[in-house]
Amino acid sequence: MSKETILSDLEEIVGKDFASNKKEDLFIYSLDPGASLPREVDYVVMPNSVEEVQKIVKLANKERIPIVPMGGGLTLSGLVIPVKGGIVLDMKRMDRIVEINEYSKYALIESGVTTGQLLAYLNENYPDLQPPVPDAPAAATVAGNVLIHGSGYLSQKYGDHGSMINGLEVVLPNGDICKVGSCSLSKYWFTRGPIPDLIGLFTSSFGTLGIVTKLSVKLFYKPKFREVVFGLATDFDDLPNILSKVIESGLAEDVLLGMQDKPDWMKGYIFVIVYVTGESQDEIDTNTKVLKKIYRKTNARYMKTPPRIREIYMEKPIFAATAADFRKGGGFEYVGAFIPLENIPEAYKGGVEISKRHGIIPTIGSRLIGQTHTVMVFFSYSFNRADPEDMKNARDALHETNILALELGGIPWKAEIAGQKLILEKMDPNFKKLFKTIRDILDPNHIMNPGNWEVE
Ligand SMILES: Cc1cc2nc3c(=O)[nH]c(=O)nc-3n(C[C@H](O)[C@H](O)[C@H](O)COP(=O)(O)OP(=O)(O)OC[C@H]3O[C@@H](n4cnc5c(N)ncnc54)[C@H](O)[C@@H]3O)c2cc1C
Repeated sequence: MSKETILSDLEEIVGKDFASNKKEDLFIYSLDPGASLPREVDYVVMPNSVEEVQKIVKLANKERIPIVPMGGGLTLSGLVIPVKGGIVLDMKRMDRIVEINEYSKYALIESGVTTGQLLAYLNENYPDLQPPVPDAPAAATVAGNVLIHGSGYLSQKYGDHGSMINGLEVVLPNGDICKVGSCSLSKYWFTRGPIPDLIGLFTSSFGTLGIVTKLSVKLFYKPKFREVVFGLATDFDDLPNILSKVIESGLAEDVLLGMQDKPDWMKGYIFVIVYVTGESQDEIDTNTKVLKKIYRKTNARYMKTPPRIREIYMEKPIFAATAADFRKGGGFEYVGAFIPLENIPEAYKGGVEISKRHGIIPTIGSRLIGQTHTVMVFFSYSFNRADPEDMKNARDALHETNILALELGGIPWKAEIAGQKLILEKMDPNFKKLFKTIRDILDPNHIMNPGNWEVE
């Protein structure tokens, strides 16, 4: 079939305004805000219903055209830029909030619903409930975030966002619509068990096994009071002990670490940022006192929070973008990596060394996930987008950081293609065989995001 016939078939499915192969429409889909090189896209299509997604997948299968599902396109690691061309399936029109269940506490939403949209809707209509939200721009979709094991201000207490999925509606590569989780047999999308848990097939597989069209995510009760309590550490080696003691106290809702060498007053410190919550100001005051004591006993210092800093950090989610980009004309990308708590000192030391060697201002942060079961460490590298050499320099730093994370027993998160290759090189061959077998069975024509998680 010619390209023009395929376009007219796509237009027939979604309407003329929502399918295109014009260069000017495709340009924005050929790159992302990170350091990846642009790649070619053949079509962009914006479906409005699960049936439309189904028809697009069937057409792509018949014509052997690659499909890449896209939410906000904000991972920074090039995950929605097609490796082998084809269709970018932009899910933004599927943005309906279908149901909020106040008792079983979940939101049933379409996959184009953004994190900002869900947060605003709950703030307005269900002010006692809060959703899992990353510190990403508000245009990031809930689906794009939970499907890649994202994390946010509820992750310390409740785990990464992938674990907060209760159920999925997925269009499989052959066009079948499949429900996974309790929704496969109940009208309540309230749990992923106790039946075989297949939701994991669709998390961190980057759209290689299906297109999620609807999902249920957990909601959580929002405590009435919240406060941020800063500590200052000066030695990376103290971090595992400080974090363990903070968590053992059972007081922390969210725990972040941050260090950067600019502005000068921040140099030499690792900021320990702990959120305490409670039902009264008294409870907050008591919890703050306990934290101050923990800081004293663990070689850290309590820092009275300047009002402007408090204001920024009390915003949820934090507006992270301002913290990351220093240079004029610059962009940034980070390696996020899941690292075991005991190896945090080496991760920070290694990250500082890599940054300095590449002439980049060291900027490293972390968020505890699930009571220290994991620490998400982000090594951020800024670059000047107008300078290809500087972008290459950042890419090299990112690559070396992926290697560092793997050497420390960690796992690079939402890895770009080069990072995926490093992970696959280290992976148990039988895990790879299992993944390839599943993929070959579900997607024999290999149309789903080919080039990602490619097992040779
Ligand atoms: C300044 C900044 C701060 C950030 N802070 C955080 C943070 O605190 N926590 C965090 O977790 N992340 C953070 N991020 C990373 C990222 O922006 C988020 O994880 C974001 O939620 C990704 O969502 P998205 O809609 O942009 O996903 P996309 O980039 O569109 O997609 C992500 C992946 O999921 C796949 N996908 C998307 N939709 C579907 C679907 N419907 N079906 C199947 N597969 C699909 C895509 O193919 C891709 O592989 C940050 C990013 C920036 C720029």
